[in-house]
Amino acid sequence: MQATRTPNSPSRPERRPDTCYINKLEIKEPAVKPRGEGRRPQRKGGSPIVPDAGGPAAAFRQERILQPSAPSRVLRSSGVVQDGVTFDYLIVGAGFAGSVLAERLARDAGRRVLLIDRRRHVGGNAYDEHDAAGVLVHRYGPHIFHTNSREVLSYLSRFTEWRAYEHRVLASVDGKLVPIPINLDTVNSLYGWSLTPEELGEYFARQAEPVERIRTSEDVVVSKIGRTLYEKFFRGYTRKHWGLDPAQLDASVAGRIPVRTDRDDRYFTDEYQCMPLHGYTRLFENMLDHPNITLELGVDYRDVIGSLRVGEIVYTGPVDEFFEHRFGRLPYRSLRFEHETYEVAQHQPVAVINYPQDRPYTRVTEYKHLTGQSHPRTSVSYEYALAEGEPYYPIPRPENAALYARYKALADATPGVHFAGRLGTYRYYNMDQVVGQALATYAKLRGAPSWVHVA
Ligand code: FAD
Ligand code: UDP
Repeated sequence: MQATRTPNSPSRPERRPDTCYINKLEIKEPAVKPRGEGRRPQRKGGSPIVPDAGGPAAAFRQERILQPSAPSRVLRSSGVVQDGVTFDYLIVGAGFAGSVLAERLARDAGRRVLLIDRRRHVGGNAYDEHDAAGVLVHRYGPHIFHTNSREVLSYLSRFTEWRAYEHRVLASVDGKLVPIPINLDTVNSLYGWSLTPEELGEYFARQAEPVERIRTSEDVVVSKIGRTLYEKFFRGYTRKHWGLDPAQLDASVAGRIPVRTDRDDRYFTDEYQCMPLHGYTRLFENMLDHPNITLELGVDYRDVIGSLRVGEIVYTGPVDEFFEHRFGRLPYRSLRFEHETYEVAQHQPVAVINYPQDRPYTRVTEYKHLTGQSHPRTSVSYEYALAEGEPYYPIPRPENAALYARYKALADATPGVHFAGRLGTYRYYNMDQVVGQALATYAKLRGAPSWVHVA
């Protein structure tokens, strides 16, 4: 006979409103201190998301630094850049790479850190802000946190609470909105079929073109699903986004998007998928709130390096720029965002709609889906790819890897300067990979064994 389960049965814990469930993992919100008390680091006995006692993650459990949900504040800006004060480290770039390293060096190693960014805000490309209508938007396009690394999640959980969020994307193809990654529902609704998963697998196999060695983004798609779906979903989007044909890009680019025969319509399948409850900017503010960190915004490395006395440098800007493009420019893809606010509560059914065919933009993002914000109006961004402008994407292809290898050799031979981040190491990395890389860089700086690995 089946045992009766009550809501309080240990095998089925009751959901409390202060608890966020990320797959099987339970993340409890910390007891938030009353306003005014929150500025000191809070020492806590152990984060509930890392239940085991030993192991390297223990290092991140000693304290949990969270602020009450106060409004965003401007971090220290002391003007010391001009004062000739000595710092142990100059960190260039206040995105994930630079901020994680600043936090670790300041809080864990007790070093005095000067963190600069040429933008007037922290967070790098993950920066979010309330727009004129009061809607929380990501200024540089949709940022969804997802990771398989418990260590990275555990580390970041010291600076933010989370809201569970699984990302779903639709593609506008042949006049229909269908799920991307391509799955059973995509093909059935596109063609008006009612295939089973097995039949779809057989269909893909019939369509697939054998490729001896998968090298390019074209290979990786046509070898799985054939040319027709490749043309509809991948070729146009990729040409728009990168200004290159998929055949000119490494397989790793389109290889980010899986193909499925079931009905799973999640964009990511990582074990942990969630959004910082009060946004990324708040996460960065909590991370950088330490007396050993001096933050200077609107300051370009090139304008101040001559007048600074610093021990070592961590550089997270474009590596070719650091070396004044000695070997030529590394190519980056840039973006332009058109932000709009509409007088309706909801504009589209999901956070992101991709436009692989006729529109001039690649995707449209409605931020309230990501943030969970309730608001009578809604804000969206239209994303246009550009050849020139701020560097957003390293472009993964063999000739760029070869050029980067020359810069990397130069970087390795430059004493006292450590390169990190998406631009500093010319890697098409997600946020969790950048955090993992920064933690590994910190371990190296401290001479400790590196244990953080994010695939
Ligand atoms: P950045 O965030 O680029 O920070 C580098 C900082 O260095 C910048 O703020 C820059 O101003 C500063 N800087 C550069 N040169 C100088 C200089 N000379 N002097 C002073 N400051 C300087 N990742 C995900 O995990 N999920 C997503 O959904 C996701 N979506 C994305 C969407 C878009 C449109 C983009 C572009 C990226 C997305 N990413 C996503 C990737 C994510 O943005 C990066 O992995 C991460 O933000 C990189 O952090 P970083 O510190 O290496 O670089
Ligand atoms: N891609 C595509 N069609 C899509 C979605 C993605 O062709 O509908 C390809 C395109 O080359 C894109 C890459 O897959 O640049 C990676 O997509 P992802 O959504 O991961 O890009 P990001 O969020 O990093 O811009």
